[in-house]
Amino acid sequence: MTLKEVERLRPEDFKDINVPISTMLKWFDVCDAYWMHSGKIEDPHVELTSGKCSNGFFDCLRVLKYLNLSEILANQMARKIRFYMPNEKIDWVIGSPMAGITFGHDVARALGAKIFMFTEKDPSQNGKMLWKRVQIPEGETVLQIEELITTSTTLNAVKEAVDEGNYSPVNWVPFIGVLVHRPPELPVSYYGDRGVISLIEKRVWAVEASECELCANGSQRFRPKTHWAELTGKR
Ligand SMILES: [Zn+2]
Repeated sequence: MTLKEVERLRPEDFKDINVPISTMLKWFDVCDAYWMHSGKIEDPHVELTSGKCSNGFFDCLRVLKYLNLSEILANQMARKIRFYMPNEKIDWVIGSPMAGITFGHDVARALGAKIFMFTEKDPSQNGKMLWKRVQIPEGETVLQIEELITTSTTLNAVKEAVDEGNYSPVNWVPFIGVLVHRPPELPVSYYGDRGVISLIEKRVWAVEASECELCANGSQRFRPKTHWAELTGKR
């Protein structure tokens, strides 16, 4: 499959089917949005911006920037959410900046939710989010959608911001929807009291180079953003 073919995929062709994870990963691969270490010790691995080593890389924006892929994946997300919560009323969908905004918007539309909104990054406090522009009326239900979950940090910052910034108590539905769930350990089924509904799930670890088994065995490490070809073997 080529990028040209992916660009031509039509959302209506995927509306009533469950797209296999392997197919979605193929789209990510074609968009250079995904790479996982093969497990072979001699193959290279990822050097993160933090300086840590990792066995995997995801950049959802490289997929979600395509309107057709965002719509197809949002429809898939909505199908899965409706499978787990067939009768749950979902009034609001809330996402986080940046890559999660357009995806959350598309999921809200696919679910038939009334409102989509997103939290903002607090410029004065790293990692903190703000909720100050709109108010969720009492009794309305809220679903959180994320494009990527690595740890619970952003996830919880969104919930905390909305809970703190909203005048009346917020009625969260019992699940969070996420396009790519890539925790350092699996399985993770819950964050707090909310379950996880993911389309793609992979265990992606990150460790200091001094503790990295791949480095210790001579595997080279590359930064995905600058050395994609060396990392992936793609030309
Ligand atoms: Zn390493």
